[in-house]
Amino acid sequence: MNNVVLAMPREADFTQGASGILTIDLGALQRNYRRLSKAASPAKASAVVKADGYGLGATTVSRALYAEGCRQFFIAHFSEALLLRPDLPADAQIFVLSGLLPGTEIACATNNIIPVLNSIDQLRCWSNTARAMKHTLPAALQFDTGMSRLGVPPEERAAVAAALKNSSYVNIMFLMSHLAAADDPGSDQNISQLAEMTRAANEFPGIDLCFANSGGLFLGADYHGVLVRPGIALYGGQPAAEMKEPMEPVISLDVAVIQTRTVHAGARIGYSGTHIAEKEMRLATLAAGYADGLPRSLSNRGAVYYRGVRLPIVGRVSMDSMTVDMSALPKGTLALGSHVEVIGRNQTLEDVARDAGTISYEILTSLGQRYTRRYR
Ligand SMILES: *Cc1c(COP(=O)(O)O)cnc(C)c1O
Repeated sequence: MNNVVLAMPREADFTQGASGILTIDLGALQRNYRRLSKAASPAKASAVVKADGYGLGATTVSRALYAEGCRQFFIAHFSEALLLRPDLPADAQIFVLSGLLPGTEIACATNNIIPVLNSIDQLRCWSNTARAMKHTLPAALQFDTGMSRLGVPPEERAAVAAALKNSSYVNIMFLMSHLAAADDPGSDQNISQLAEMTRAANEFPGIDLCFANSGGLFLGADYHGVLVRPGIALYGGQPAAEMKEPMEPVISLDVAVIQTRTVHAGARIGYSGTHIAEKEMRLATLAAGYADGLPRSLSNRGAVYYRGVRLPIVGRVSMDSMTVDMSALPKGTLALGSHVEVIGRNQTLEDVARDAGTISYEILTSLGQRYTRRYR
């Protein structure tokens, strides 16, 4: 009987066969955290790691930031907190921004997860849970200061203040609110939200504040309180339109060429033939599409790069692939398995977002699970 031995490369190159390689530079993430911490000082910097750490891996990102001294982590939903909790040491505090959902109270309390209370009902519920468990429970208390999204509305504040006086079971760690236009330092919405936050703080004397997101951090110390909540700036997104010194990029993305071809003038390219070749063109089809976080709005607009040469996207972006014009490269440069740059030295995350008509947040959180991830 013959033993069939499958040939395996002795040192398997893990990028082999990868449709794309998403490189995540944890050192850059840590340097961004250090820079934000310094800018916030004497306030402390937390980390917002919702949506799987803005798509980069909540556990890996949080552990890297914990190693830099970060102890407060904000996620959006209770389910995310439950997943992250076992991966962080007990002294890491995990806050749930979306509030306290009915039925999660006991699990929240027993798993050392801290809710951001967004209404008097949530406060009452948390207080009842604490009373039943016969010990105080921590919480953050969020106010709506003008975004009309989450938080205690102004007209409910007096009732909340009264409820807190009567209930010694909930320990409010800080008062929170979220800025709607912090990426625009010139917006008067920042000033009016700061004024409303100051009014709210005066109604709850002696309790610390937690106000600024990434953009808010750069609006100045008035917006800092004792704890800032940066998200996007940690991951290399730019917190404001005009940044003198941009945040350090954290990700780069390279995708594989899966076919090359030469087409003649008149050839239709991609779904619905939205691009028709005007002359002979050399094309490369790439192994990433809108299911990999490269939005369909990049069709006939965006580009990728190879050794500094811009290769425009031609035709529609498909679910799993897209086609670029590589006519600017010498013949034979790209072949099956070559990698081209989508995000990197030549094109930033912000550039791709701008071409797609969206924001870096949406690109980051859409990158998906099909790329091979390489943490550095
Ligand atoms: C997402 C979020 C943040 C982080 O915002 P960035 O703009 O990414 O810095 C902070 N606070 C709240 C309440 C959020 O929802």
